[in-house]
Amino acid sequence: MTDLPVDQNAAPIEPTPRRKPKPERTEIGGRPLKPSTLMMGHGFDPVLSEGSLKAPIFLTSTFAFPSAADGKRHFEGITGKREGGADGLVYSRFNGPNQEILEDRLAIWDGAEDALTFSSGMTAICVLMMAYVSQGDVIVHSGPLYAASEGFVSKVLSKFGVTYIDFPAGASREELDDVLKRAKCQAGENGGKVAMIYLESPANPTNALVDIEAVKEARDANLKWDCPIAIDNTFLGPLWQRPLDHGADIVAYSLTKYVGGHSDLVAGSIAGAKKWMDPVRALRNTMGGIVDPNTAWMLLRSLETVELRMQRAGENAEKVCECLKAHPKVTGLGYLGHIKDARQQYIFDRHCKGAGSTFSVFLKGGETECFRFLDHLTIAKLAVSLGGTETLASHPASMTHLSVPDERKAALGITDSLVRISIGIEDADDLIADFEQALEHV
Ligand SMILES: *Cc1c(COP(=O)(O)O)cnc(C)c1O
Repeated sequence: MTDLPVDQNAAPIEPTPRRKPKPERTEIGGRPLKPSTLMMGHGFDPVLSEGSLKAPIFLTSTFAFPSAADGKRHFEGITGKREGGADGLVYSRFNGPNQEILEDRLAIWDGAEDALTFSSGMTAICVLMMAYVSQGDVIVHSGPLYAASEGFVSKVLSKFGVTYIDFPAGASREELDDVLKRAKCQAGENGGKVAMIYLESPANPTNALVDIEAVKEARDANLKWDCPIAIDNTFLGPLWQRPLDHGADIVAYSLTKYVGGHSDLVAGSIAGAKKWMDPVRALRNTMGGIVDPNTAWMLLRSLETVELRMQRAGENAEKVCECLKAHPKVTGLGYLGHIKDARQQYIFDRHCKGAGSTFSVFLKGGETECFRFLDHLTIAKLAVSLGGTETLASHPASMTHLSVPDERKAALGITDSLVRISIGIEDADDLIADFEQALEHV
């Protein structure tokens, strides 16, 4: 056996520091960089990955500790034995580099301290709710909600002794006071508390808006404990509405929609102050449900163009709606750019920066006429979902809301003559021509 030469003067090998970017430029000329600029590099230092301009996809189930003491310290953070959470990567059910970069970048759009990513929008929403409710508690929520969210509250959480009270999206401050008083009574009778106020605004498919500021005022006036206000911002976020600025504590997303934006992935997230994220992170550590590294990488790709895509889709929707509004076969439009109700307009003016690109259009006739319209579209695809680069159209009464009882459908304004459209980033004139020729068949 020959002795390997040993260089006694070699510098000790430093363990690679965890994703510790060089001091990063976050302001220019005394003002903070805009989110669209930060999406290109925030939270990733190429030097730590062989100079790779884009973050590599870290396909690993576990992370090697630099030393046993580091392993102990990391676990103290993960288990909550030490304040401040994990300061090292441990195991891929808890976190990974791609997910951390994604969470850092998502938080920017909502002006949030922290964000958490999930394998779907519904996983995000379910883990969020489960982290906050106990037996006997009441969830107060706006209506309508995304059908699966509504089902999770009424059919799943109910199995564990959690009840709910819902209120219509446009409710006034007085109505909200009344709802919270009733919720407190209900919680008292069940030996619990009002554990969460959960909103969805605008609601699907009616586009009814919730007054977030009024909800916060009502919460502060009626509930004397920390009851978070969470809101599903999938329809207008992250560009056209920033709910944390108006009094919400937690914002939830189906990243499958505008953020992913290419109809090629399923994912979800929540964002807010660290104190609101920590209980959810702890439950995610236990249950799993974090987004996988591949999908996280795809979302980093998507975030680079989210502003461009949403702007273009919003402009297209405005042009399309201008044309649909005047069309003789169209009897009504549920588009936030053409609100008819004064209270809804008042909420829109305070909360929204844009009218979005997902709306409903009411056609002359019923299911037969709507189906004829849908079957004659040649550019728009017949599919549920929204927020992708391509235009999609669907018939909620017979598709997404088929299982909703007739009375509830009627109360929500989901009639047989309603078609839901999500406008993409195609050429606006081509889209208008397609809608016009399809309307001729109505
Ligand atoms: C799609 C959607 C969800 C669910 O998200 P997934 O990613 O499909 O799980 C929740 N809320 C709203 C408003 C949605 O549009």
